[in-house]
Amino acid sequence: MERTCIIVGASHAAAQLAPSLRQEGWEGRIVVIGDEPRLPYHRPPLSKAYLLGDKQADDLLIRAADVYTRFNIEFRLGERVESIDRGDRTITLRSGEKLAYDKLALCTGTRVRTVTLPGSTLPGVHYLRNIADIDRIRGDVRTGGRAVIVGGGYIGLETAAVLTKLGMHTTVLEMAPRVLARVTAPQVSTFFERVHREEGVDVRTGIAVRGFEGTSRVEKVVCADGSSFDADLVIIGVGVMPNVELAAHANLATDNGILVDACARTADPDIVAAGDCTMHPSPYYGYIRLESVPNATEQAKSAAAALCGKEKPYAALPWFWSDQYDIKLQIAGLNQGYDEVVVRGDLRSDRSFCAFYLKDGRLIAADCVNRPQEFMFSKKLIAGQIVVSATQLADEAVPLKSLTEVAKVEN
Ligand SMILES: Cc1cc2nc3c(=O)[nH]c(=O)nc-3n(C[C@H](O)[C@H](O)[C@H](O)COP(=O)(O)OP(=O)(O)OC[C@H]3O[C@@H](n4cnc5c(N)ncnc54)[C@H](O)[C@@H]3O)c2cc1C
Repeated sequence: MERTCIIVGASHAAAQLAPSLRQEGWEGRIVVIGDEPRLPYHRPPLSKAYLLGDKQADDLLIRAADVYTRFNIEFRLGERVESIDRGDRTITLRSGEKLAYDKLALCTGTRVRTVTLPGSTLPGVHYLRNIADIDRIRGDVRTGGRAVIVGGGYIGLETAAVLTKLGMHTTVLEMAPRVLARVTAPQVSTFFERVHREEGVDVRTGIAVRGFEGTSRVEKVVCADGSSFDADLVIIGVGVMPNVELAAHANLATDNGILVDACARTADPDIVAAGDCTMHPSPYYGYIRLESVPNATEQAKSAAAALCGKEKPYAALPWFWSDQYDIKLQIAGLNQGYDEVVVRGDLRSDRSFCAFYLKDGRLIAADCVNRPQEFMFSKKLIAGQIVVSATQLADEAVPLKSLTEVAKVEN
């Protein structure tokens, strides 16, 4: 009988895993089950070009429908997988229908962290994760209207940039003492606060939202310090949570993510997981859970190989990006545990610089603003675990390329 691989989640990871499975030699059925009514699409443009109106939903597709047809990949869209029975090797859909699998891939991604503050369910208060969310947000965008963004993370700041461009008076309310506090050095946070203020955004930090008020829809955001902000539109961007429940209820190990090895395998030889939902080993940073497209794509390739009995460990260096106004931020590596920050360029007045994060004299991460070359060579320096001096990193006259070349000679 023909063997079946089921992929749960019509996600970034699935869009890679399914064709990679064919390339690795899987000849049986491949069925992707996704609870959204769409083929896998790029999520990053949601808070950028799609919100702005520069892209339409069809422009976001990761692959056109005929590509999946060519690879003989089936989709069951608008269907949710409710449970896994590992003994019977079946999954159960919300409708009660059971489907048998020989191999299973969990690509369930993350969901937004929600708040339970008074008024948080009023019309006009939004979260941002999928196309349907943006379509609702766009329905509330009014030139000259007031938008309040709760949360000064990347998604909150990207959204603030777009809403400002769309002519809304935009306020960002961040509870921490600075924006991007979880992910960047204080200098970089100060840079982003400056840029947003220059563009007309009212950035408030160290401020806790207490609730939302309005009669038939949101009119005001109220804060713990007694201040309040008029709002026609509110977007809450306070992080995400991995969708691990399906795995956990099937007694697969989870810990802020589905635990997998370097080949994306769970402890069950027939089940892999890939993307935002996994906690996996990194050769550079120990066990990590990442929220990024490059991670979903690269890990999916390892997962596809593993399902075909091959070992192709996922060892790529994490990287990310964010677009705000004329700024392209590219981030190489993770800065966790850094003991020194070195800046190349002038982040107090320019919009082009690098912030390098060092730990014990080695580069572990770099935030590169409008510096694609430096980003590229930072990745090499980090992945090569090359010893660099803070003085050289800070010196604009020393091309980063030369540091990678010196290391080659020394090695
Ligand atoms: C607004 C926004 C902007 C972003 N910007 C960037 C960026 O600039 N750069 C970057 O690298 N990353 C960015 N990201 C993050 C990036 O989109 C994610 O890292 C990526 O989508 C993760 O892919 P994934 O394959 O893990 O899962 P996802 O793409 O999250 O997809 C998971 C899918 O599985 C479905 N699902 C879950 N459970 C079930 C179930 N039981 N049954 C059926 N279906 C299920 C979900 O509904 C979802 O459709 C952004 C994300 C958002 C929301």
